[in-house]
Amino acid sequence: MHQINGLARELATGMSLVDNHCHSIDLSVFDLEGFEDHLTEAPDRLSAATTPFDSMAGLNLLNFCAPLIGVDGAGPEAYVNARQKIASDELARMHFGGAGVELLLVDTGYKESRLATNDQLAELSGAPVVPILRLETFAEGVLREISRPEDFAAQFGEALRDASIKHSGLKSIAAYRCGLALRGEPVEMTELSNAVAATIEGNSMAEGPRITAEPLISYLVQTALEVADKPIQFHVGYGDPDLQLDRSNPALLTPFIRMANERRRNIVLLHCYPYHREAAYLAHSFPNVYFDLGLAINFVGTFASRIFSEAMELAPFAKLLYSSDAYALSELHLLGSLGFRSAVADFLSMLYDRRLADEAYMVRLASMFAKENALRAYRL
Ligand SMILES: [Zn+2]
Repeated sequence: MHQINGLARELATGMSLVDNHCHSIDLSVFDLEGFEDHLTEAPDRLSAATTPFDSMAGLNLLNFCAPLIGVDGAGPEAYVNARQKIASDELARMHFGGAGVELLLVDTGYKESRLATNDQLAELSGAPVVPILRLETFAEGVLREISRPEDFAAQFGEALRDASIKHSGLKSIAAYRCGLALRGEPVEMTELSNAVAATIEGNSMAEGPRITAEPLISYLVQTALEVADKPIQFHVGYGDPDLQLDRSNPALLTPFIRMANERRRNIVLLHCYPYHREAAYLAHSFPNVYFDLGLAINFVGTFASRIFSEAMELAPFAKLLYSSDAYALSELHLLGSLGFRSAVADFLSMLYDRRLADEAYMVRLASMFAKENALRAYRL
């Protein structure tokens, strides 16, 4: 293994990060199974005899987090038992204390009722929280209120215009619904009304409408370009089994990226694994495309550096953002940050060793990756 240059390590350790995509934390006390559920995207267990701790994510978590609560070398059960004895707000402060994050962009659209509020999260993390609006969830709320399908377009546009003012960005989970092959030309009004009518009819009243039709989701993101002057995040790649992986390839989004580029709207591709090279290519080809490696970094553990360097083969340095994609466990805010720091340290060190970067350039790059790129992408 190569020696990491001292300055590279120092710079990466000292970065003050902007986390461009994360979720809030769950302050309830977890039992072993409840805790393990957050170490995998798979809802179903292989068998009772196996544990999600037997993975790069699990080993990484025990390695970094067990010593913090005084159980160095603990296995899964001993870790979770020791964790139960500590107040969850104290745990959160400990993990955020090590995460070194100065701003959190929080997606509040996923199973929000179980999680700490944005105010609680800001207080526990010591970092301001800015909310991101989930387009599909927001549109489902509008669908519940309209009486005729033809009313959707006007009501959605108006509601989104107002709501977007209070958010720093918008997010689409098209990858989970119809896939990323969204269109690059306007959706016809009759096609939209038909999709709205089918969505309303096809759903039980108890669950509420669930938007899955491509014309409707294309309409949501196109309307976002028209009425909201905010970047749009897209979930890309790896996720739970609701998603069909090959439909979450960001290359499928190219027609919509072109449309957004004509209107000078930024697109942020989130997570991206295993399509981080495709995301890097899109960031290279289109001025309005940014991307991150969140989720992947937490789930690949010690391989974070490899994913990072694969992404940076082609990506312009000004396009890579940090995210933890942490959800529920405060550990994931810490581990996302540690994984990213170690990947940046390796990358800077490699550039220095090959005489591609001097010290001043390393300083500049660390600052771009940590926050400048994010502040530019979101115009914060
Ligand atoms: Zn997420």
